[in-house]
Amino acid sequence: MSGGPAPAGLGSGDWFQEKLFPHVRQTFEITKVLFREQTEHQDLIIFETPTYGRVLALDSIIQVTERDEFVYHEMMAHMPIIAHGRARRVLIVGGGDGGILREALRHKSIEHVTMVEIDRAVVDMCLEYMPSIPKRAFRDRRANLVIADGARFVAETDERFDVVIVDSTDPMGPGEVLFTERFYRNCHRVLTPGGILVNQNGVPFMQADEVTMTYRRRRKSFKDVGFYVAAVPSYYGGLMTLGWASDNPRLRHVPAATIARRVATAGLTRTRYYTPAIHNAAFALPAFVLPHIR
Ligand code: SAM
Repeated sequence: MSGGPAPAGLGSGDWFQEKLFPHVRQTFEITKVLFREQTEHQDLIIFETPTYGRVLALDSIIQVTERDEFVYHEMMAHMPIIAHGRARRVLIVGGGDGGILREALRHKSIEHVTMVEIDRAVVDMCLEYMPSIPKRAFRDRRANLVIADGARFVAETDERFDVVIVDSTDPMGPGEVLFTERFYRNCHRVLTPGGILVNQNGVPFMQADEVTMTYRRRRKSFKDVGFYVAAVPSYYGGLMTLGWASDNPRLRHVPAATIARRVATAGLTRTRYYTPAIHNAAFALPAFVLPHIR
């Protein structure tokens, strides 16, 4: 894994090079750098592009773009909440851009969302320069923002949640601790019976080792562990795997009619990627991914 600060002095007409993979890079034309700071935790840059709108990168790794953020945020929020069926309290670990918070709060049945983000600068700068992503989520009376290490939070909190969504950076730097067996064990600890954990799990065509790694580590604490997929254009390498874990295998096989009814009840009519049909289809994994789930 690489990652690391982008070159100094990037400006209009330059190209931003994502440094996630050792031998492959994707580049984005920069029309304007809006903000740049080496925070306490990571190199944070927000820049304008002709194709993806505004883009946030941390340690030279693309995190979120205005143009395609809906795919990932809808799939990380609605899949577990709809499958659960009775979720009232959600924990988001990471997610500083506010996209998942926004989508989770679309469910009127959700009474409380705690979001534990380690880097206050990500929240502040996304509110300032990418407001279309958080929108008004942070001002929702149900939202509770905690600036802390998510691994420490789940180890120490006495709060309980029906859904835990880990919207972390990749397993390096501050995000590395969010891919450990101990972290997953504590996620299990803070979940109520019947609870669901979902996590950002990379692009298997390029990061197949992360599929095996999290599968083995999550299986130590959860009875049913698997993945679902989503196609996020700005996450290089094809389909993205999202980790799924619970103690009830049936939660990955909720009948289509039930999903459709719950989506209608939740009033999720204006989604742009997630649909009841996508819900069930997303658990169908490409054959090349299967050998890595072991
Ligand atoms: N959707 C993106 C992806 O799939 O790569 C992730 C976006 S979100 C910006 C990732 C967030 O995780 C960042 O804001 C980062 O600060 C946060 N983060 C990293 N390590 C963390 C930790 N140990 N505890 C809490 N938040 C953390």
